[in-house]
Amino acid sequence: RFDSISVAPPDAILGLTEAFKADERETKMNLSVGVYQDASGTTPVLRCVKEAEKRLVETESTKGYLSIDGLPDYREAARQLIFADLVPAERVAAVQTPGGTGALRVAAEFLATQCGPLRIFLPTPTWANHNAIMAAAGLPVETYSYLGADKKTMNFDALIEDLKTKPKAGDAVLLHACCHNPTGVDPTPEQWEQIASVVAEKKLIPLLDFAYQGFGEGLDEDAAGVRAVLRHVNEAIVCSSFSKNFGLYSERVGTACLVSGSADTTKAALSQLKRVVRANYSNPPRHGGAIVATVLGDEGLTQMWHEELAEMRTRIASLRKQFVDGMAATGVDQDFSFLLDQKGMFSFSGLSPMQVDQLRSEHGVYLVGSGRINVAGMNESRMEWLCNAVATVLR
Ligand code: PMP
Repeated sequence: RFDSISVAPPDAILGLTEAFKADERETKMNLSVGVYQDASGTTPVLRCVKEAEKRLVETESTKGYLSIDGLPDYREAARQLIFADLVPAERVAAVQTPGGTGALRVAAEFLATQCGPLRIFLPTPTWANHNAIMAAAGLPVETYSYLGADKKTMNFDALIEDLKTKPKAGDAVLLHACCHNPTGVDPTPEQWEQIASVVAEKKLIPLLDFAYQGFGEGLDEDAAGVRAVLRHVNEAIVCSSFSKNFGLYSERVGTACLVSGSADTTKAALSQLKRVVRANYSNPPRHGGAIVATVLGDEGLTQMWHEELAEMRTRIASLRKQFVDGMAATGVDQDFSFLLDQKGMFSFSGLSPMQVDQLRSEHGVYLVGSGRINVAGMNESRMEWLCNAVATVLR
């Protein structure tokens, strides 16, 4: 029976990392993978995380199972970060999940089993795994316009037109809460207001993917989109992740938060979310959630986290600026200043697939085929070299 199985296509981005590892050029540079890297090229463990881990080693008394929805302190801390005091706790069912991916899968299965039949609308482009996750949960996937033909800015009119005309009442719409992956193009606060009012008017279910809180402008600033939506509607699902803002990639720590109109509905929804979890992975891993709960339950560690997060955020912004200035200094015709308006780790560079290929083969600079750059993979000390390499393929 297994003889007829064919080889699945490799994951486009992880495949590039394999190719990067095999590349023997010392000057190679990986701008494809989706993790933060510091000036020395490593993805560091935050100091607040190390400190929390020390405390956990000393105090942790069991490795017994967590409950299906995870650690209560963790769930409360995650809820606070996302909603602050905008929504009363009794209207939020928060479930600790294995990463943001786990949160999205739980949310998708919940939608498919409890809210169907419905379709989910994804922006074009979006994180490639969104398609796979939604399809795996049995949700029919449709798209709405996002990026303009210039590949640098949002086509907001097309987005609004699509949201007004394509979905039916009861369909779901996935919105990147901030730091859109792969483009770095986010709605302005005014645009969020308009998106939120269309979502309300059309009676759509908003599914907000919040994987980069704190990587754009700040923890509260980046929550503006989620909160704008929740000022217009009283039902939504928010999937958040501590992979990026806590650097806890491999610990798999995220949250699916379902907001409903009443405490009773929330209780019923929580019981169904737990049913989805039970049949998937039974209960979440403890360690990552315990780290987050320890940090956010301690004023000193929280302060340390805010500083470390700000350091990552400002470094990414500074790399953007250095790249834009560096490209201008090469004298190429193309103006890269649009990168300054984009948020988070990723940006569409505007480079064509051919130029991306050339960068890889001739210079050992690895970008995703779409031209997506992980800005956090750039490096201050090699900025001039990078800009010259990019300039060569543009000429
Ligand atoms: N959503 C988006 C838009 C992402 O970019 C990512 C991570 N690449 C995730 C969700 C999932 O993050 P996690 O690693 O926590 O599963």
